[in-house]
Amino acid sequence: MLNIVLFGPPGAGKGTQAEKLLKKYELIHLSTGDILRGEICAETPLGIEAKKSMDKGELVADEVVIAMMEAKIDANKEAKGFIFDGFPRTTAQAEALGEMLHEKGTNITCMLALFVDDDELIKRLLLRGKDSGRADDQDQSVIENRISVYNKETAPVIDFYDTQNKYISIDGVGSIDEIFARLCVAIDQLI
Ligand code: ADP
Repeated sequence: MLNIVLFGPPGAGKGTQAEKLLKKYELIHLSTGDILRGEICAETPLGIEAKKSMDKGELVADEVVIAMMEAKIDANKEAKGFIFDGFPRTTAQAEALGEMLHEKGTNITCMLALFVDDDELIKRLLLRGKDSGRADDQDQSVIENRISVYNKETAPVIDFYDTQNKYISIDGVGSIDEIFARLCVAIDQLI
Protein backbone atom coordinates (compact mmCIF):
# COMPACT_ATOMS: atom_id res chain seq x y z
CA MET A 1 0.00 0.00 0.00
CA LEU A 2 0.99 3.61 -0.53
CA ASN A 3 0.05 5.48 2.63
CA ILE A 4 0.95 9.16 2.62
CA VAL A 5 0.70 11.65 5.45
CA LEU A 6 0.17 15.00 3.74
CA PHE A 7 1.30 17.51 6.30
CA GLY A 8 1.51 21.26 6.76
CA PRO A 9 -0.03 24.21 8.58
CA PRO A 10 -3.61 25.40 7.96
CA GLY A 11 -3.73 26.91 4.49
CA ALA A 12 -0.65 25.05 3.21
CA GLY A 13 -2.67 23.56 0.35
CA LYS A 14 -3.09 20.00 1.62
CA GLY A 15 -6.67 19.62 0.39
CA THR A 16 -5.90 20.99 -3.09
CA GLN A 17 -2.89 18.73 -3.55
CA ALA A 18 -4.65 15.70 -2.04
CA GLU A 19 -7.35 15.95 -4.72
CA LYS A 20 -4.71 15.78 -7.45
CA LEU A 21 -2.69 13.02 -5.78
CA LEU A 22 -5.64 10.72 -5.20
CA LYS A 23 -6.46 10.77 -8.91
CA LYS A 24 -2.91 10.11 -10.05
CA TYR A 25 -2.09 7.36 -7.54
CA GLU A 26 -5.65 6.00 -7.04
CA LEU A 27 -5.69 6.57 -3.32
CA ILE A 28 -8.46 7.18 -0.81
CA HIS A 29 -8.40 10.71 0.62
CA LEU A 30 -9.15 10.89 4.34
CA SER A 31 -9.34 14.49 5.54
CA THR A 32 -10.21 14.83 9.22
CA GLY A 33 -11.35 18.43 8.63
CA ASP A 34 -13.78 17.38 5.85
CA ILE A 35 -15.07 14.40 7.84
CA LEU A 36 -15.61 16.59 10.93
CA ARG A 37 -17.41 19.27 8.86
CA GLY A 38 -19.64 16.46 7.49
CA GLU A 39 -20.49 15.42 11.06
CA ILE A 40 -21.30 19.05 11.94
CA CYS A 41 -23.56 19.36 8.90
CA ALA A 42 -25.39 16.15 9.82
CA GLU A 43 -25.68 17.41 13.42
CA THR A 44 -24.39 14.15 14.89
CA PRO A 45 -23.36 14.11 18.59
CA LEU A 46 -19.72 13.90 17.42
CA GLY A 47 -20.22 16.93 15.16
CA ILE A 48 -21.93 19.01 17.82
CA GLU A 49 -19.06 18.31 20.25
CA ALA A 50 -16.31 18.85 17.66
CA LYS A 51 -17.76 22.19 16.53
CA LYS A 52 -17.03 23.74 19.93
CA SER A 53 -13.27 23.14 19.50
CA MET A 54 -13.18 23.89 15.78
CA ASP A 55 -14.87 27.29 16.14
CA LYS A 56 -12.12 28.36 18.55
CA GLY A 57 -9.33 27.02 16.34
CA GLU A 58 -8.49 24.32 18.88
CA LEU A 59 -7.97 20.63 18.20
CA VAL A 60 -10.72 18.06 18.64
CA ALA A 61 -9.85 15.44 21.31
CA ASP A 62 -7.36 12.78 20.17
CA GLU A 63 -9.57 9.82 21.12
CA VAL A 64 -12.50 11.18 19.09
CA VAL A 65 -10.42 11.77 15.96
CA ILE A 66 -8.52 8.46 16.27
CA ALA A 67 -11.74 6.38 16.57
CA MET A 68 -13.28 8.28 13.65
CA MET A 69 -10.27 7.60 11.41
CA GLU A 70 -10.06 3.92 12.35
CA ALA A 71 -13.68 3.51 11.24
CA LYS A 72 -12.85 5.15 7.89
CA ILE A 73 -9.79 2.94 7.33
CA ASP A 74 -11.86 -0.16 8.15
CA ALA A 75 -14.58 0.96 5.73
CA ASN A 76 -12.04 1.02 2.85
CA LYS A 77 -10.49 -2.44 3.06
CA GLU A 78 -9.89 -2.68 -0.69
CA ALA A 79 -7.96 0.60 -0.90
CA LYS A 80 -4.59 0.72 -2.68
CA GLY A 81 -3.55 3.27 -0.11
CA PHE A 82 -4.58 6.40 1.74
CA ILE A 83 -3.74 10.09 1.78
CA PHE A 84 -4.07 11.28 5.35
CA ASP A 85 -4.83 15.01 5.32
CA GLY A 86 -4.99 16.88 8.62
CA PHE A 87 -4.17 13.68 10.49
CA PRO A 88 -2.12 12.91 12.52
CA ARG A 89 -2.04 16.33 14.14
CA THR A 90 -0.48 15.32 17.46
CA THR A 91 2.22 12.82 18.38
CA ALA A 92 -0.43 10.71 20.17
CA GLN A 93 -2.43 10.53 16.91
CA ALA A 94 0.73 9.56 14.98
CA GLU A 95 1.43 6.73 17.42
CA ALA A 96 -2.18 5.51 17.25
CA LEU A 97 -2.16 5.61 13.44
CA GLY A 98 1.07 3.59 13.36
CA GLU A 99 -0.42 0.91 15.63
CA MET A 100 -3.68 0.83 13.66
CA LEU A 101 -1.90 0.30 10.34
CA HIS A 102 0.51 -2.24 11.85
CA GLU A 103 -2.45 -4.34 13.05
CA LYS A 104 -3.79 -4.27 9.50
CA GLY A 105 -0.42 -5.40 8.09
CA THR A 106 0.65 -2.08 6.57
CA ASN A 107 2.37 1.18 7.54
CA ILE A 108 3.00 4.82 6.59
CA THR A 109 5.15 5.12 3.45
CA CYS A 110 6.15 8.77 3.96
CA MET A 111 5.21 12.15 5.36
CA LEU A 112 5.18 14.92 2.76
CA ALA A 113 5.31 18.24 4.61
CA LEU A 114 4.39 21.45 2.78
CA PHE A 115 6.20 24.58 3.94
CA VAL A 116 4.59 28.02 3.60
CA ASP A 117 5.45 31.16 5.61
CA ASP A 118 2.92 32.53 8.14
CA ASP A 119 2.09 35.77 6.26
CA GLU A 120 1.22 33.83 3.10
CA LEU A 121 -0.87 31.36 5.17
CA ILE A 122 -2.96 34.11 6.76
CA LYS A 123 -3.53 35.71 3.34
CA ARG A 124 -4.67 32.39 1.82
CA LEU A 125 -6.97 31.53 4.75
CA LEU A 126 -8.71 34.92 4.79
CA LEU A 127 -9.29 34.58 1.04
CA ARG A 128 -10.66 31.03 1.51
CA GLY A 129 -12.91 32.35 4.29
CA LYS A 130 -14.47 34.80 1.85
CA ASP A 131 -14.87 32.20 -0.92
CA SER A 132 -15.96 29.14 1.08
CA GLY A 133 -17.73 30.77 4.00
CA ARG A 134 -15.86 28.51 6.45
CA ALA A 135 -16.37 30.14 9.86
CA ASP A 136 -12.88 29.27 11.14
CA ASP A 137 -11.31 31.03 8.13
CA GLN A 138 -13.12 34.32 8.61
CA ASP A 139 -11.74 35.51 11.90
CA GLN A 140 -8.09 36.57 12.03
CA SER A 141 -7.72 35.68 15.73
CA VAL A 142 -9.09 32.14 15.14
CA ILE A 143 -6.65 31.75 12.23
CA GLU A 144 -3.74 32.94 14.37
CA ASN A 145 -4.77 30.49 17.10
CA ARG A 146 -4.80 27.61 14.59
CA ILE A 147 -1.30 28.52 13.42
CA SER A 148 -0.09 28.72 17.01
CA VAL A 149 -1.73 25.33 17.85
CA TYR A 150 -0.02 23.96 14.73
CA ASN A 151 3.40 25.23 15.87
CA LYS A 152 2.93 23.91 19.42
CA GLU A 153 1.07 20.61 19.04
CA THR A 154 1.31 19.56 15.40
CA ALA A 155 4.82 20.52 14.24
CA PRO A 156 6.38 17.92 16.64
CA VAL A 157 4.78 15.20 14.46
CA ILE A 158 7.61 16.00 11.99
CA ASP A 159 10.16 14.61 14.47
CA PHE A 160 8.07 11.45 14.89
CA TYR A 161 8.40 10.63 11.17
CA ASP A 162 11.91 12.08 10.84
CA THR A 163 13.28 9.54 13.33
CA GLN A 164 11.69 6.82 11.16
CA ASN A 165 13.34 8.35 8.05
CA LYS A 166 9.92 9.01 6.53
CA TYR A 167 9.93 12.81 6.58
CA ILE A 168 10.20 14.72 3.28
CA SER A 169 9.89 18.52 3.19
CA ILE A 170 8.33 20.20 0.16
CA ASP A 171 8.33 23.91 -0.74
CA GLY A 172 4.62 24.85 -0.61
CA VAL A 173 4.98 28.22 -2.36
CA GLY A 174 4.44 28.38 -6.13
CA SER A 175 1.68 27.44 -8.55
CA ILE A 176 -0.61 24.47 -7.78
CA ASP A 177 0.97 22.52 -10.64
CA GLU A 178 4.52 23.31 -9.55
CA ILE A 179 3.84 22.09 -6.04
CA PHE A 180 2.06 18.98 -7.38
CA ALA A 181 5.11 18.18 -9.52
CA ARG A 182 7.38 18.44 -6.46
CA LEU A 183 5.14 16.02 -4.54
CA CYS A 184 5.07 13.54 -7.44
CA VAL A 185 8.88 13.54 -7.75
CA ALA A 186 9.13 12.68 -4.05
CA ILE A 187 6.52 9.90 -4.28
CA ASP A 188 7.92 8.41 -7.48
CA GLN A 189 11.27 7.92 -5.78
CA LEU A 190 9.58 5.69 -3.22
CA ILE A 191 7.43 3.45 -5.41
P1 ADP B 1 -6.90 23.53 8.33
O1 ADP B 1 -5.76 22.56 8.22
O2 ADP B 1 -6.95 24.48 7.18
O3 ADP B 1 -6.98 24.18 9.67
P2 ADP B 1 -8.82 21.38 8.53
O4 ADP B 1 -10.03 21.29 7.69
O5 ADP B 1 -7.76 20.33 8.35
O6 ADP B 1 -8.26 22.81 8.20
O7 ADP B 1 -9.21 21.41 10.07
C1 ADP B 1 -10.19 22.28 10.60
C2 ADP B 1 -10.33 22.07 12.12
O8 ADP B 1 -10.76 20.71 12.38
C3 ADP B 1 -9.04 22.21 12.94
O9 ADP B 1 -8.77 23.55 13.28
C4 ADP B 1 -9.38 21.34 14.17
O10 ADP B 1 -10.24 22.01 15.06
C5 ADP B 1 -10.17 20.19 13.58
N1 ADP B 1 -9.30 19.03 13.23
C6 ADP B 1 -9.00 18.61 11.96
N2 ADP B 1 -8.18 17.55 12.01
C7 ADP B 1 -7.95 17.29 13.33
C8 ADP B 1 -7.17 16.33 14.04
N3 ADP B 1 -6.44 15.41 13.40
N4 ADP B 1 -7.17 16.37 15.39
C9 ADP B 1 -7.89 17.28 16.06
N5 ADP B 1 -8.63 18.21 15.45
C10 ADP B 1 -8.67 18.24 14.11
